[in-house]
Amino acid sequence: MYYLFQILLKKSQFCNKNDTSSLMLKYLLLICGLAILSINTSFAPRNVSNPQEKIKKSANKGYKVKTIVIDAGHGGKDPGTLGKRTQEKNITLRVALELGRIIKRNMPRVKIIYTRTTDKFVELYRRTEIANQAKADLFISIHCNAAPKKARNRAKAHGAETYIMGNHVSEANLAIAQRENASILLEKNYKKNYGGFNPNSPQSYILLSMNQQVHMKHSLSFARKIDWEIKRRVRRHTRGVKQAGFYVLARTAMPSVLVELGFLSNPAEERYLNDALGQIYMASAIYRAFKAYKKELEAQ
Ligand SMILES: [Zn+2]
Repeated sequence: MYYLFQILLKKSQFCNKNDTSSLMLKYLLLICGLAILSINTSFAPRNVSNPQEKIKKSANKGYKVKTIVIDAGHGGKDPGTLGKRTQEKNITLRVALELGRIIKRNMPRVKIIYTRTTDKFVELYRRTEIANQAKADLFISIHCNAAPKKARNRAKAHGAETYIMGNHVSEANLAIAQRENASILLEKNYKKNYGGFNPNSPQSYILLSMNQQVHMKHSLSFARKIDWEIKRRVRRHTRGVKQAGFYVLARTAMPSVLVELGFLSNPAEERYLNDALGQIYMASAIYRAFKAYKKELEAQ
């Protein structure tokens, strides 16, 4: 077909412009050209990926998860939520440090950056700044939950929740994000540092939810692994993977997840999370999720 096309092409070059045979030749040329095109398309090997896919694959080739930022929620003058005997800031710090220790022991090449390693107050915007400046590959924020003070059966609510950035589907999810974001109000110049973001204003959350969409796939993958590890390996109750407008997740420029380890308003869960072994189990669950996430991404 290709040779026929070439012969016709040569002949057509010697024909008179207004000649009928020249017109015929041109039609034949067109038909031959179309036939060649269709043959090439229909016999193309099926496993040839589209160019977009090729670009994506080459961009991921050799990609390594090198740096993780571990963010222990609250600290210093911000105790976070309060249990009967515990403060959220102390539990989050111990689990964060334990997680870092396990990663360091098993993956010495991974760089670990903490937003805090002591009981000090770190502004929310500073936490995201630390992660962005380090060009981290992953951000994990660790927190503890509490049922609202006026909630009926307050002491009964329990289970871990894993959050990624996004629009909340329930008021309860929004309430948790608002409680966590309220740390901003303890800062001196919060109006200056947050570009008009107000933790109590619903409009602020609409704007915030536009962030992080580019990282949603990876954040969700990591979040699901954390939920699975806590549920299946540590055998603790989980309340699933959810979305809400957490400031620390919105402003980081990498896949980001926030874990609510459990409810300090539930006495049994408070005891578990305040116990050294409980903290090791929770940190191990996050570590295993990280290991699986890293392996998955680096295999692509
Ligand atoms: Zn918190």
